Amino acid sequence: MLNSFIEKTDVIIFDLDGTLYEGDQHFALMVENLKQRLPEKHHKAFDELYQKSLAGDHALTIGKVYDVQEDVIWTWDPFTTELTNAQNWDNEQVHIYDAPTKLSVSEFDYQRFVPIGDGWWPPYSIARHFGLTVEDTQWAYRRTKEQMANLDGMLEPTPGLQQYLEELSKAKKLVLITNSEIDDVHRLLKFLGLDHIFSDIVPSALKPMNTNKHFKEVLTRYDVKPEQVLSIGDNFMNEVAPALQLGMYGIWLTTSNEVPLKNDKFAKIRTLATE
Ligand SMILES: [Mg+2]
Repeated sequence: MLNSFIEKTDVIIFDLDGTLYEGDQHFALMVENLKQRLPEKHHKAFDELYQKSLAGDHALTIGKVYDVQEDVIWTWDPFTTELTNAQNWDNEQVHIYDAPTKLSVSEFDYQRFVPIGDGWWPPYSIARHFGLTVEDTQWAYRRTKEQMANLDGMLEPTPGLQQYLEELSKAKKLVLITNSEIDDVHRLLKFLGLDHIFSDIVPSALKPMNTNKHFKEVLTRYDVKPEQVLSIGDNFMNEVAPALQLGMYGIWLTTSNEVPLKNDKFAKIRTLATE
């Protein structure tokens, strides 16, 4: 599917973290860091919920939206942007009267409505469910990022990706749009041998709030129609849903078993490895 989408398009937009390298050990680090702020009596329940979520055995899965205020998990339609169904932590359907019927990507406020776009957000949501504050989660996130930077040497470059992208960049325009800050971006790209691949790099992109704006700028800059553009990323809300809404192709890079939608411009793949 990856190749058939690439053949059809002229501009390919990539995310960086979780997309251009392998491995998801950092989510386990995040879980351990969150638990440091959580009373020990909740640790077992935290682990059980997290394992169920990973296995696709719980309402809390990627592609959903966590409602912090009501402590429920919403099913969200990426095309109509409707919040369709609320479930509690026992997976029971519940009625919430004080909720909007629709929520666009740019309306996710991270105060009440938290999009569960990638592997960072299930542990985050479980932590909030057990009463951790935003400050607690920020502490855990910062600590995880520091541990990751120290472990850069352990980062796994995706097998064959460097050569593949080098070839691809001769025929297509490759654009990098990432939430990471510019120094982190250059350090990582250099480490991965990908620092000469992209015709444009947009750091500190504030996805998903600003994804639509960045994607429209790509359309203008390269003078292309949405159906000539493919977006590839590991965060469904940040990189995939906004692309599909604009009529672009979207590839979601994930090991999750979730299938958030069926659409002929959407595909899910497990890795960008070519070897
Ligand atoms: Mg990412």
